[in-house]
Amino acid sequence: MVRAPKRELPAGLYFVATPIGSARDITLRALDILASADVLAAEDTRTLRRLMEIHGIAPGGRPMIAYHDHNGPAVRPRLLQMVKQGKSVAYASEAGTPAIADPGFALARDAIAAGLPVSTAPGPSATIAALTIAGLPTDRFLFAGFPPPARSARQKMLAELAPVPATLVFYESPKRIHQTVNHLAQTLGEERQAALCRELTKLHEEVLRGTLGELARQIADRSLRGEIVLVVDRGRGTASDEDMRKMLIEVLKTQSVKDAAAEVADRLGLPRRKVYQAALDMERGK
Ligand code: SAM
Repeated sequence: MVRAPKRELPAGLYFVATPIGSARDITLRALDILASADVLAAEDTRTLRRLMEIHGIAPGGRPMIAYHDHNGPAVRPRLLQMVKQGKSVAYASEAGTPAIADPGFALARDAIAAGLPVSTAPGPSATIAALTIAGLPTDRFLFAGFPPPARSARQKMLAELAPVPATLVFYESPKRIHQTVNHLAQTLGEERQAALCRELTKLHEEVLRGTLGELARQIADRSLRGEIVLVVDRGRGTASDEDMRKMLIEVLKTQSVKDAAAEVADRLGLPRRKVYQAALDMERGK
């Protein structure tokens, strides 16, 4: 064990990243903080206890406080009060980096507003892990989190994201992944490159790569278990005429030729003039 000796932590709120699968992905500094903090707070205290046990860290008599979406407003002031009183408070979410599709944002915001010291022990996050091995550009990316389950809200979100010139990162549950990949193929075009990253760092880690259309076909007959990140390339103007026509049919149901052409051109990264001409031809029944 190469852990540094236990040191006293200065007062403050410490956001500690924890593994997204393999327990050994914890950082040495995260272990130091978990070993030294006066107070431990966690989205799920049982998960944090188990992780500490694996790494030989005893909670001792230290308070271990649950902090999650349901009790945040009630527990936040208590945690901040402890920091004000000079305590070091370590916070870990269920897995990965706190505040990334996990509780933690409001805690950081309020601590900063109160002028309290806020620090982090950075480490695993499913977003970064997926981007690292997706094989898609990482120069600019947009973390989109979980797409909303309701169809209209999801449609709105995907329409906003379609023209964004950045790699898109989605979290999705195995129950909805088929629907989401199909929906992405319809909305962003079947030709966009994507990577479906499942169970990263775990025994059944798997990455499927291909166009959205290919991915939809690859997974159609499979039930996918576990945790999934979907990484989708930006639009590159490579959508087929068939993609363009399919999307125009949908968008023309609710918009004028001009607006529909502009929207489809943006979403697929195609020249506006080309899409406008196609939309006119469709309207004239050519
Ligand atoms: N805070 C976490 C982070 O930093 O990535 C994310 C928490 S969010 C509630 C959980 C989602 O993250 C899962 O539904 C899945 O989309 C993704 N995820 C977490 N662990 C994963 C893994 N090992 N492989 C693939 N995706 C994972």
